[in-house]
Amino acid sequence: MTRSIRPLIVGNWKMNGLTASLNEFNAFGAGNDAALRRAVDLMICPPATLLFALAHSAPGKGISIGAQDCHVKDSGAHTGDLSAVMLADAGASAVLVGHSERRADHGENDAIVRAKAEAAYRNGLTAIVCVGETRAEREAGKTLSVIRRQLKGSVPEMMTAHDLVIGYEPVWAIGTGLTPTAKDVEEVHAAIRAELKKIIGKEEGARTRILYGGSVKPTNAKELLAVANVDGLLVGGASLKAEDFLTIAGFYR
Ligand code: PEP
Repeated sequence: MTRSIRPLIVGNWKMNGLTASLNEFNAFGAGNDAALRRAVDLMICPPATLLFALAHSAPGKGISIGAQDCHVKDSGAHTGDLSAVMLADAGASAVLVGHSERRADHGENDAIVRAKAEAAYRNGLTAIVCVGETRAEREAGKTLSVIRRQLKGSVPEMMTAHDLVIGYEPVWAIGTGLTPTAKDVEEVHAAIRAELKKIIGKEEGARTRILYGGSVKPTNAKELLAVANVDGLLVGGASLKAEDFLTIAGFYR
């Protein structure tokens, strides 16, 4: 398959993983063979407790390391939080911002997500900005307007294709085993592409990677990654095992 945008597969481990997961990470590296490395970029976003260890075991594996969230500020009195400066210092090259679980569990709105994306940008991290509609919003026919509103509110205008990735994750598809049809994914990704061009400019918007996420499995990945404007996948549950993650990435070979 000829692609103008190099694909990216991101594994989001969420609140899973103990020090024993370092062994599993070795299996990720062992399976990332030369053909896969030529075809696709791979990234794992472990919990913060494993970030430093994975980042320091990553060289040679061809897998970059991302964080799952950052604070809007670079330092200060914010007990329990981690700044983009600290994540970069620990070895992360990217950070997820605005994941729907953060939006729901921590009340993060678009303005906060934007401030987090700015913190990432300031500190040289790629911001993976997540957007997605709820089931109620989809059923009300509001999917595209919700996505456009989230993008307008969450994506800083100065970002470029180099430091920005968009993750489209329908909230109702995350962890449920449900996925939108290929046609629905195509419609949303086309709308994201058009909106991105308005926000960060035509050239950067055309080159920015847009990932699909939500119940991606080895059984449905091939169909999803064949959809226009799907430049990779954001994988939750199926990223915990090297075998599943590498099978998914392997469809890019
Ligand atoms: C996610 O929440 O980022 C995700 C994609 O989860 P899952 O693949 O488990 O639906």
